[in-house]
Amino acid sequence: MSRIRITVAGAGAMGLTAALALAEAGCEVTVFDPSASLASASGMAAGMLAPAFEAALDPEARDHFDLLLAGRDLWPGLEARLGIRLDRSGALAVGSPAHLERSDQALRRLGLHPTGIPRGALADLAPGLAPGWTSGVLTREDWRIDPAQALAALRAAAEALGVTFQARAATGFEGADRLVIATGAARDLGVVAPELSRLHPIKGQLVRVMTGAYDGLVIRGEGAYAAPFAGGLTLGATMEAGRDDLEIDPERIAALKAVGAGLFPAVAGAVGDIAQAGVRAATPDGLPMVGRGRHHGVLLAVGARRNGWLLAPLAARIIAACVTEGEAGPYAGRLDPARFSA
Ligand SMILES: Cc1cc2nc3c(=O)[nH]c(=O)nc-3n(C[C@H](O)[C@H](O)[C@H](O)COP(=O)(O)OP(=O)(O)OC[C@H]3O[C@@H](n4cnc5c(N)ncnc54)[C@H](O)[C@@H]3O)c2cc1C
Repeated sequence: MSRIRITVAGAGAMGLTAALALAEAGCEVTVFDPSASLASASGMAAGMLAPAFEAALDPEARDHFDLLLAGRDLWPGLEARLGIRLDRSGALAVGSPAHLERSDQALRRLGLHPTGIPRGALADLAPGLAPGWTSGVLTREDWRIDPAQALAALRAAAEALGVTFQARAATGFEGADRLVIATGAARDLGVVAPELSRLHPIKGQLVRVMTGAYDGLVIRGEGAYAAPFAGGLTLGATMEAGRDDLEIDPERIAALKAVGAGLFPAVAGAVGDIAQAGVRAATPDGLPMVGRGRHHGVLLAVGARRNGWLLAPLAARIIAACVTEGEAGPYAGRLDPARFSA
């Protein structure tokens, strides 16, 4: 029997995880993307897999903790498959008493049992944290990957299964039986996927500060997070709804660094920052559109907003099930692109 031929448009987190899942399901897959993967939102993201703090602190994610958790729980399988490092050490809220109280209460409302961390133990969990902070709120439910490592490993694993790559934009099916649209915030395939008109952009800026290697937990501060990356700390991220440009705004970067310096004094003295901007794609309800599009043969994996890495394996599983007529699992209905059709 001939294999189902698939074009995947987009080589970010969504496109690459879908390509791998489809290749594993026996499909003949070609991935199109005109840009280097590290230039995508996926390449510049902080890599947090954060069902707990996202559902606790982001109003749009509040009702979706179960779904975010389901996405996270597929990561150990991907870790083993790809040989990447999945950091399961957790995340720590640090800030004013009001911030800690809010974080603690919000995590408890999700059914979690966060741990209050006394001053003496903070330095072990977050080396270099300013000594003035007297306590923190810890959850071990949030994990982290290195996006650059994950993108490279996904691509290598896909190539090992015969997936081929084209360094140009897909303009349609490109001769394949199915088209998987994983083009992030881009809407140029709207002719075959009118659903893309429901996406709106949210620009995000962050700054990588060369403080020296940080091997502590992700810190959830007030107005910014601090996450490890090779060579220092990533401080992020702005949420600029309606903007899809990649311009760096020095004032916003300075504001992130000010919060970061309050958390880690080394930020103030560090030289050699890298400021970056990316564009998240969001849907009206904050959840991605994953599954069959209105046009025959079109599948969508777009609109993951702040949680594209977290949800990528869940989206890939649903996409593969749509193609193979397999079981798409309990979350496919909530992510079905048709939910906006009415
Ligand atoms: C500052 C910031 C921090 C973030 N931090 C996190 C985080 O910590 N954890 C998390 O889970 N998420 C995070 N996110 C969100 C996450 O980055 C996105 O949800 C995710 O990257 C979306 O992946 P994607 O594959 O859908 O899109 P993208 O990564 O944007 O990839 C889309 C790709 O499609 C390509 N493309 C466009 N048009 C075409 C075409 N016609 N044909 C072929 N290719 C095309 C583009 O070149 C691009 O490479 C963050 C986002 C930002 C901006």
